[in-house]
Amino acid sequence: MEHIKKYEACPVCDHTQFETHVQVKDWMITQESFTIQKCLGCGFHFTNPIPSEETIGSYYKSEEYVSHSSTNKGLVNKLYNLVRTITLDRKVSLIRSYAKGNAVLDIGSGTGHFLNACNLAGLDVQGLEPDSDARSFAKESFGLELQPLETLQTIESNSKDIITMWHVLEHVYHLKRDVAEITRVLKDKGTLFVAVPNMNSFDAKVYKEHWAAYDVPRHLYHFQENTIKKLFSQFDMECVNIYPMKFDSYYVSMLSEKYKGGNILKAFFNGWLSNMKSDTNGFSSQIYVFKNK
Ligand SMILES: [Zn+2]
Repeated sequence: MEHIKKYEACPVCDHTQFETHVQVKDWMITQESFTIQKCLGCGFHFTNPIPSEETIGSYYKSEEYVSHSSTNKGLVNKLYNLVRTITLDRKVSLIRSYAKGNAVLDIGSGTGHFLNACNLAGLDVQGLEPDSDARSFAKESFGLELQPLETLQTIESNSKDIITMWHVLEHVYHLKRDVAEITRVLKDKGTLFVAVPNMNSFDAKVYKEHWAAYDVPRHLYHFQENTIKKLFSQFDMECVNIYPMKFDSYYVSMLSEKYKGGNILKAFFNGWLSNMKSDTNGFSSQIYVFKNK
């Protein structure tokens, strides 16, 4: 079995010349080193090589991977869970402000907290999640029947008013195949919300190879405003708005300080500064709103 997949062509534009952007360790789990490359054709950044599709699952097996569990251990996880509760309401009001109908598809639902909030707000939800433990958690905690990712191919075309991907697109193994599926399933006047880390943010520049949102090899792609727009413009979608995720700069800075053996006060300072410098760099993570052209 091949354990590694090496891109010979850019996952966005198919150009074949790259340069090395930075070498990063898997700080969270394996301590293995990975390379992030920049496409010289379109400027897109991606981890290369990456673990094969068969082996990448083993890089997700950790109690510390909080987006897939609800452990309440440690200050960082406690804060993460608190902030999640606060931001859920905001996400639901945001999508409702765009919704022309009730049909919501959430891709990469994790433990189902967001879909549960949508349910309570009266939306009609469907959720896809690759991890079976997370699906069981969502069923036991919220009675949600999440489905495996492959279900995407079976969803009726032109059937969803809203599609959401909260910190998911950077994990999707078959990028263009799945974006094509998403655009097929979205109604003509529907809205797609994609939240991803921003590698052009001030905290990314400060922490460099320690920046926690590189999160290799789980993050296969490392977006910034112009490259995510280029990707979706290939599918005739345009970005109509960008919203900040102001807590992410603090969370990511805290993790980054942990990885470099720094201190938590610096993390709060850099998190705050990152939000202050958003005019130039954008925010640590951003929500991109896409509509069909
Ligand atoms: Zn490219």
